[in-house]
Amino acid sequence: MKEYKSYFRSVVDAMQGYVPGEQPKMLDLVKLNTNENPFPPSPAVLGALESFDGTMLRRYPDPMAGSLCAAIAEVNNVSSNMVVAGNGSDDILTMTFRAFTAPDKAVAILEPTYSLYPVLAAMQEAKVIKIALQEDKNFAMPQDILEQAAPANILIITRPNAPTGNTFPKADIRRIAAEFDGIVFIDEAYADFAEDNCMDLVHEFSNVIVSRTSSKSLALAGLRFGYAVAHPTLIEGLNKLKDSYNMDMITQKLAEAAIRDQEYLQTTVGKVKALRSELAAGLQNLGFKLIPSQANFIFAAPPDEDGARAFAFLRDHAVIVRYFPGETTGKYLRITVGTAAQNKRLLDVLGELYK
Ligand SMILES: *Cc1c(COP(=O)(O)O)cnc(C)c1O
Repeated sequence: MKEYKSYFRSVVDAMQGYVPGEQPKMLDLVKLNTNENPFPPSPAVLGALESFDGTMLRRYPDPMAGSLCAAIAEVNNVSSNMVVAGNGSDDILTMTFRAFTAPDKAVAILEPTYSLYPVLAAMQEAKVIKIALQEDKNFAMPQDILEQAAPANILIITRPNAPTGNTFPKADIRRIAAEFDGIVFIDEAYADFAEDNCMDLVHEFSNVIVSRTSSKSLALAGLRFGYAVAHPTLIEGLNKLKDSYNMDMITQKLAEAAIRDQEYLQTTVGKVKALRSELAAGLQNLGFKLIPSQANFIFAAPPDEDGARAFAFLRDHAVIVRYFPGETTGKYLRITVGTAAQNKRLLDVLGELYK
């Protein structure tokens, strides 16, 4: 074979790819590591799947996912030209980074936050400004966030944040949107589990993008569907940068069925929130320190603040949670809210470790 030589761009050689949460094949596993919904998707989605006419697949799908975007617009009280659909909200993030980051256009993100953002920045050779959250204040934003973010072209606020699960006062987000000279991207992957959201800010500010995903509250992580809502001019720009046929025909149909069944969404979210309270109480009983969660997971530090040890012990007992090494995050586990039975298994195993 010809001797290997790298023709990759140097940033590609240097970068670490995104590391997704593991999807192990173990039987009997209690899987609480990637914030999936413990309940199935809406029956309307399963019905749409059954009635899908497979012979239609010879055709290209609607490149603009018109019918789906109309449904998204209706549900969120915006016009269709303020919506773009994506192959998961990761696809929305990819378009956004293509649009607003470059070697001379930095991105500001919170720390800790969703670990995909720095990977997308590396692809664009864009600098990342990390704004440390205040651990001693339940991971609140620092007072000087605007000063820290000032050199960036785009500021990403994950609300509720991951992996910490807390939210930030909406009044602060509004002030940031008004004062930041750049795009404010609000990643609302977990907003359905929270007390409020920032969707209405898209009517007030032409520099705000709000993104949502079907992966958590709509129980469709396997489908790959997310969307963004923003001022029509921003959406027009993102449309130039998306893959031409980023939404396949089946996803468009199933996603629309999911989005239109708001009643099922509210019921499922209600159940997850009730289970979240129970799980929080159980962890507190074991001496865990909890960050108040507005998401479908809980960021919690075991009594000995040894996240790695708790993670390994759980794994040995076929319970998988997420552990993020690091000086701050390493003290915690990020635990997805599961079914009552799954949560009980988790608490029983942890009970053995911290009795
Ligand atoms: C899960 C998650 C996403 C990605 O969602 P997909 O639609 O599955 O790509 C985006 N942002 C945050 C903060 C998430 O936790």
